[in-house]
Amino acid sequence: MKLRRVSLSVLGFLLASAVFSALPRVAPLMEGLSGSGQSPGYSRVPILCFHDLNGRGRYSITSATFRHFMKRLRDENIAVIPLAEVVERSQNKRLLEKPAVAITVDDDYEGAVRIAAPILREFGYPATFFVYTGGIHTDPAEGMSYDDLRRLLKEGFDVQNHSHTHTAFHVPRKGESAAEYEQRLVVEIEDSRKILEKNLMGHKIRFFAYPMGYHTPALRERVFKAGYELVVTTDARPVDLTRPFNGSFDRRTIELDGGVAELIFEQAIQIAKKAI
Ligand SMILES: [Zn+2]
Repeated sequence: MKLRRVSLSVLGFLLASAVFSALPRVAPLMEGLSGSGQSPGYSRVPILCFHDLNGRGRYSITSATFRHFMKRLRDENIAVIPLAEVVERSQNKRLLEKPAVAITVDDDYEGAVRIAAPILREFGYPATFFVYTGGIHTDPAEGMSYDDLRRLLKEGFDVQNHSHTHTAFHVPRKGESAAEYEQRLVVEIEDSRKILEKNLMGHKIRFFAYPMGYHTPALRERVFKAGYELVVTTDARPVDLTRPFNGSFDRRTIELDGGVAELIFEQAIQIAKKAI
């Protein structure tokens, strides 16, 4: 991701907020969703995307900030629901009775499994870990390992696919033939899934996160063709449960600790809390 993505995310949020507040409140949307058709519902679910937790680099926040965010969710009475539940609710247009977010953690950082997961467990929050197979070790002493991932699954967390090499493959490389490109997509999208399912005792891989958020409509179709139920981007828009499910969710990257991360996070809380 490039630096401009943050300002685009924030700008997108502001634009979306302006559009949203300009719309009339639509009570009929709730009809048929509950017995009376009267009860309020929450339709927008921000999906948060975290990376490492050592506080080094643009995409890493400190474990203290991460813990603070989890506490904020609890204090604000925001539910944390599994990504799979967001999919199910979106497919059935089933709104929420209380504000909610979903948590995802990307890449093969030790901090994801050994710092984020214990903090999440402490708060009782579910999360989906998107990992790329090329960076997972067999020896836990070397970094994130399959032992770590199997433990996550046993603890009730979800693990899903983030490709094999974590390189860009949204378009062919310069000079790459169609056959070569397709072979690369097979490795990134299909072989990686086989590797994960084999090493995770048949755990079903259903979701795919684009490396660095790069995607095109053609790549999306290719991922669906491989049998995935959901692709996730880093385009920052919350999931809107009133809209038809189209197999693609955007996520909000929590980045730039020390000010911006807090801003992005607090925006997500406000979005979740807006009832229709
Ligand atoms: Zn990534």
